[in-house]
Amino acid sequence: QYTQRLVVLGAAGVGKSAIVAQFLFETFTEKYKKTVEELYCTEYDVYETKVRLDILDTSGSFEFPAMRKLSITNANAYLLVYAIDNPQSFEEIKSIRQEIIDIRGEAGIAKLPVVVVGNKCDLEEKRQVPKEDAELVVELAWQHVFLESSAKERTNVVNIFKQLLHQAHIP
Ligand code: GDP
Ligand code: MG
Repeated sequence: QYTQRLVVLGAAGVGKSAIVAQFLFETFTEKYKKTVEELYCTEYDVYETKVRLDILDTSGSFEFPAMRKLSITNANAYLLVYAIDNPQSFEEIKSIRQEIIDIRGEAGIAKLPVVVVGNKCDLEEKRQVPKEDAELVVELAWQHVFLESSAKERTNVVNIFKQLLHQAHIP
């Protein structure tokens, strides 16, 4: 059985836990509860192959740099989340991606499923990261899949995980 070990990374408060909760449990809460680290396991059929999907939801803070390093090393798929109303969180995606490259190498990251998500797209009136800017960086420069999502309205939430699973290298 193939196991896809996905790690969800991004600044605190961008909606990492909300995306995972919406995907797995179809729930959303406005309340903010700080995550330290949470692991979920599910199973899916991808092209008639059973894939076990482990989702590691991380804190996103820099309080535990060793933990983040370990989670990057252990994962074989990456979901990088920023919020469209928070330009600083987009900058953070850049340094997280660099950290993945430092650990896996340029060739390593190119072979693994990576999806970059601009979350909270329901907050269009508060948008500070233009979609076109993010597309230029993520799709053109980095060649990763890019999506905007709303964990609140479930927009693109399932699509995120579809993209990650379909990109998965299944032996
Ligand atoms: P995390 O720290 O990245 O795990 O962020 P959380 O998932 O805990 O979410 C942080 C806050 O943002 C919570 O108050 C959520 O209710 C809110 N939030 C998360 N996703 C969305 C979204 O798509 N739209 C809106 N409007 N709020 C969101
Ligand atoms: Mg969280």
